[in-house]
Amino acid sequence: MDVEGRSWNAAGIRKREDFSFFSSYPTHRLSSSGPYPSPTRTLSDQIYSASPMQLIDTHVHINFETYKSELEAIRERWREAGVVRLVHSCVEPEEFAGIQAIADRFAEVSFAVGLHPLDAGKWNNETANQIRDKASSDSRVVAIGETGLDFHKGDDPELQFKVFEAQLEIAQQLDKPVIIHCRDAAAPMAEMLRNFWQTRGPVRGVMHCWGGTPEETQWFLDLGFYISFSGTVTFKKALQIQESACMVNSDRILVETDCPFLAPVPQRGKRNEPAYVYHVAEQVAKLRGVSLLTLSQQTTENACQLFGFSLELEPRNDENKSN
Ligand SMILES: [Zn+2]
Ligand SMILES: [Zn+2]
Repeated sequence: MDVEGRSWNAAGIRKREDFSFFSSYPTHRLSSSGPYPSPTRTLSDQIYSASPMQLIDTHVHINFETYKSELEAIRERWREAGVVRLVHSCVEPEEFAGIQAIADRFAEVSFAVGLHPLDAGKWNNETANQIRDKASSDSRVVAIGETGLDFHKGDDPELQFKVFEAQLEIAQQLDKPVIIHCRDAAAPMAEMLRNFWQTRGPVRGVMHCWGGTPEETQWFLDLGFYISFSGTVTFKKALQIQESACMVNSDRILVETDCPFLAPVPQRGKRNEPAYVYHVAEQVAKLRGVSLLTLSQQTTENACQLFGFSLELEPRNDENKSN
């Protein structure tokens, strides 16, 4: 892989010519001396406030308690970082109302509805209907999930398979993509999906927070999936994930934070937030030897394609709220 791709020098700092696109960027967001580092500001400040990127964080959990008192500030920061849309994931139906309230508040938030594999024990007779009803009654629902298999922490594989399959069926019926969580389960996951494809036909979707080897990555590309990289791709020892990030076709790659988990370098160890998707994109661009602008265009276009939204935001008002 080309870790010192054409847009980067050995220290990972963008070369002067890579700032050429700033000529079309609104000057009020640039410092008076131009887009170059000013000594009084941190590197993050410079990156965020000078960025003309349009990024989509395709997987967030900003309904978590940790964000409650500061969502406005977090929104400011994701805007500064160029994040123009977010896809809010969902781990169980109890979260629906809270996630909807966030989407009411921030026009750039779309969301998924589903049950996480680690919550498979909460599946009951009502769950499928709850997911189906919400997904078909609120136009901001752009996916089913997150669902999938987690054999790292989860037990009861049989139940996980059952709950996952039920959600694949809902996604297929409603023609929505699935957001798949797959941990220590790539082989059984691929096998199950191949069987599902053969007997019932394909479902569109994304392998989120992807941590697989290049070989495993290829299995899911062959099944038609998008592959989404998170902060783990920035971790020094994550060589296989980095290799996978190099091999995914440019029309199938996505970026995400999965916040509040797995903050990317240089924020590693801190609470993650949507603005940090910038660092994920920056690393993926570097690995692939393309400019950050190119990578942001590719991933943003892919997210629009998969989730079926555009970058034009509809105003949020009471009439627009669904129940
Ligand atoms: Zn997940
Ligand atoms: Zn998640």
